[in-house]
Amino acid sequence: MPLAFPAGLMWFRRDLRAHDNAGLAHALRSCGRVHCVFVFDKAILAGLPRADRRVEFIRESLADLAPALRGGLIVLHGFATEEIPRLARELGVAAVFANHDYEPDAIARDDQVRTRLARDRIEFQTFKDHAIFERRELLSGAGTPYTVFTPYKNAWLAKVDDAALRSHATDTALLAPAPARAVPSLQDLGFEPTNLRDLAIEPGERGGARAFRDFLGRIDEYHVARDIPAVRGTSGLGVHLRFGTVSVRDLAREAHERAGRGSEGAAVWLSELVWRDFFFQILANFPHVTGRSFRREYDGIEWESGARADELFAAWCEGRTGYAIVDAAMAQINATGFMHNRLRMVAASFLVKDLGIDWRRGERWFAEKLNDYDLAANNGNWQWAASTGCDAQPYFRIFNPDSQQRKFDADGAFVRQWLPAGNPRVRIVNHEEARARTLARYEAARKAAA
Ligand code: FAD
Repeated sequence: MPLAFPAGLMWFRRDLRAHDNAGLAHALRSCGRVHCVFVFDKAILAGLPRADRRVEFIRESLADLAPALRGGLIVLHGFATEEIPRLARELGVAAVFANHDYEPDAIARDDQVRTRLARDRIEFQTFKDHAIFERRELLSGAGTPYTVFTPYKNAWLAKVDDAALRSHATDTALLAPAPARAVPSLQDLGFEPTNLRDLAIEPGERGGARAFRDFLGRIDEYHVARDIPAVRGTSGLGVHLRFGTVSVRDLAREAHERAGRGSEGAAVWLSELVWRDFFFQILANFPHVTGRSFRREYDGIEWESGARADELFAAWCEGRTGYAIVDAAMAQINATGFMHNRLRMVAASFLVKDLGIDWRRGERWFAEKLNDYDLAANNGNWQWAASTGCDAQPYFRIFNPDSQQRKFDADGAFVRQWLPAGNPRVRIVNHEEARARTLARYEAARKAAA
């Protein structure tokens, strides 16, 4: 088959791997010569703290990726909307390849790049890579996107097959060898080193593969171990999924096969990957969720505001609420960039339903802190906890932090790990009173919207 383009450019973003990368596979199939680029985008970096584990993770992952691409990775630091069209022109390529992104800012960036490339008659081709099913691939009987998880999951499981889970062949031996170029240092990028190395998070495709192999030794117990924050019951693959240092197809294929052979742990874990797809498609089909409630009747909720609210919010951020399980969870996220899923639910619920603080403030805090921060998952889960989202828990379901602690940290192992012993804890709110205020707050908003 004749090649479509003499030369192409693969633009890496949140897909930092050479193996099973849809955009790269298409570039290799259709171009005589393929160049590869990653841009540290100043439009994104500007909003980040100077010590940011994600930037370090990306930097280290690029250092791992470059040799896998035979040294042919060009790493730039600038505005992607300018750098990509400029580089494409300079290299004389006929097409640029990338993978789909579902975030509104990324879509706007890609539209701008597409328009600029078109002026030079350069094609911009993008592909599904981060999800098994995306956008409008799964629709309800009425032809609309699913907004409830269980029917979405049933449709997902009914549709998934070998083709959907098959890896894309990426024979990087076909890449034109290029002179190795140094990946910029953190300092070059204006960032400081973090404690990433102390956290046993190994970046890069090799780190992702190792973490997955390790988890496969534990996957069969996932359904029983996943809710206990003191044990290593979950995969810890969130950060690798976030930056594409693992392929979701590899993960889902393995889990699907094991589930088919009767592993309950693998079946439950596969459901978590389906949640990830679910929230990607929610964001793609209902972009108003960034900034507003999925269920618009909750846009009118009157959250606490003013100096008292600011104090409560600061106490939550710094782990000073007096509720041990919440404070330990906040200590964990602040020190490591990770928080266990059960605790994300407890901490989010506490902020919104015990402190009466707007979920968007908590969403932003998590966005700044989480190593695996992902707009679709973070927003979807915050809206779930705040009862403003699709398929969210009902507004009158309010976690009691003490019973959550008794249930999921019964022997106090997690709390002891994160909170200094003997520190007297003074509670900033009374849960029962807060509960009553929350019910009134949500009921008023519902009444006003009716
Ligand atoms: P595992 O339990 O091993 O799950 C495997 C993978 O499945 C995860 O890495 C993730 O990609 C996906 N997954 C699991 N649970 C969910 C879920 N509820 N929604 C969507 N995907 C899921 N997850 C993020 O990836 N990024 C976020 O920014 C994020 N913010 C959250 C905020 C709140 C308030 C809550 C309650 C949850 C949030 N989650 C987020 C979901 C979940 O907590 C994390 O995915 C999980 O804790 C990551 O740890 P793990 O990789 O060990 O997960």
